[in-house]
Amino acid sequence: MPELPEVETVKRTLERYLIGRKIVNVAVYYPKIIANQTKDDFIRHLKNEKIKEMDRRGKWLIFHLDHYDLVSHLRMEGKYFLKNPKEELNKHEHVTFLLDNGKELRYQDTRKFGRMYLFPKGVYLEEKPLNEVGYEPWDNRLTETYLKEKYRGKKVPIKTVLLDQSIMAGIGNIYADEILFVSHIHPLKLASQLTKKDCCSLIQATRMILGEAIEMGGTTIRSYESEKGVHGRFQQHLLVHNQKFCSTCDTPIERIIVGGRSTYFCSHCQKKR
Ligand SMILES: [Zn+2]
Repeated sequence: MPELPEVETVKRTLERYLIGRKIVNVAVYYPKIIANQTKDDFIRHLKNEKIKEMDRRGKWLIFHLDHYDLVSHLRMEGKYFLKNPKEELNKHEHVTFLLDNGKELRYQDTRKFGRMYLFPKGVYLEEKPLNEVGYEPWDNRLTETYLKEKYRGKKVPIKTVLLDQSIMAGIGNIYADEILFVSHIHPLKLASQLTKKDCCSLIQATRMILGEAIEMGGTTIRSYESEKGVHGRFQQHLLVHNQKFCSTCDTPIERIIVGGRSTYFCSHCQKKR
């Protein structure tokens, strides 16, 4: 599943090719992808709209148009491709946008879990789903006091709470493990038991880990050709997730299930108390 750094990488790549382009035509082959509009309205509204700017909020990708904001979540397997419209459509390409430069932006999703929302310009942050998304990791309002307050009374493992997009946005399963490892916090420690110091470490680790991942995406993406897929899977150089031994102390990494998700940690570096 693409996480914040991957979505940021997709955004940075797509904006190079899409800013200033006008959408000439749209086709929807799997209408369920369009969450808050009928297929016909979606197509009608998007025709002749220019892509002015791109943005990211949590794991959501946002296309700012002349009169609308298109909000897209890739979920498990969603990817954008820029192709020649003459190229035959594959069965996983569900939405296509023909551009004024003769290229076609195609949304491909083998699992079909991705969703697109189209809003009149300016309201997307006040509407579902984005009105429920918490602070960005680099938001100044994200402080240890804020986290401590949010975690108060939460008798749930911190690993699970980190995945809750309504507190801090953009952290998925893989980076949650990495963040807890760098913060020396055991994934099963209850959120309510975290000290202010823990919260401070969490924020610093989140910014560092996600920042580095974006940087890596940024360097890898330079070799990308426009016709190739833009999917931003740059989850290399992981410290603990899916690893055999701790990179700090050489202890074998343990794998447990927390809230239904695979969780990796070092029992020596990440103590419960
Ligand atoms: Zn260790």
